[in-house]
Amino acid sequence: MITRAAKPAAIPSGTSPPRAHPPDDEDPLVDEARDALGSYCFTACKASCCRSGQLPLRTPVEVAVVAGGRRAALLRSSRLVKNPDGTSTLSLEQPCPRLGADFRCAVYAARPAVCREYPLFVFGARIVVAPACPGAAAGLLDAHLARLREKGYTII
Ligand code: SF4
Ligand code: SF4
Repeated sequence: MITRAAKPAAIPSGTSPPRAHPPDDEDPLVDEARDALGSYCFTACKASCCRSGQLPLRTPVEVAVVAGGRRAALLRSSRLVKNPDGTSTLSLEQPCPRLGADFRCAVYAARPAVCREYPLFVFGARIVVAPACPGAAAGLLDAHLARLREKGYTII
């Protein structure tokens, strides 16, 4: 993330697409594209996706990873909301509790699925690029996205 090792991730407000398949089923080229963001994430961008929007959390384990011992407090403050479908959503109006001062993720190895996928979300043969990602907007993914197009993916 910055190497992706410090990476972040939250989906821009109002966007929390379901995933077509988990990262370990993904085409390795997709993850290579994510890795192309490199240190841009914690240097230039300063992990904006961990500091804005909404973080969709699919399971209680993901909630526990992100909230840690602050789960009850986050629920009381309404920063963390339980959804009717059993998932939860954390508001990132304040930075994610796991984002360090160096803009790296303190729970990188266990981070939620959406954090692993951001800013590329795969739906079969379609790949959605998060429009709020400055690294993508700056063209850092372009060469990789071109390779994915050549391979038959539609990039949105
Ligand atoms: S868990 Fe880590 S990667 Fe995900 S939003 Fe929080 S700091 Fe960012
Ligand atoms: S918004 Fe994009 S460039 Fe910024 S930290 Fe997240 S993935 Fe990296």
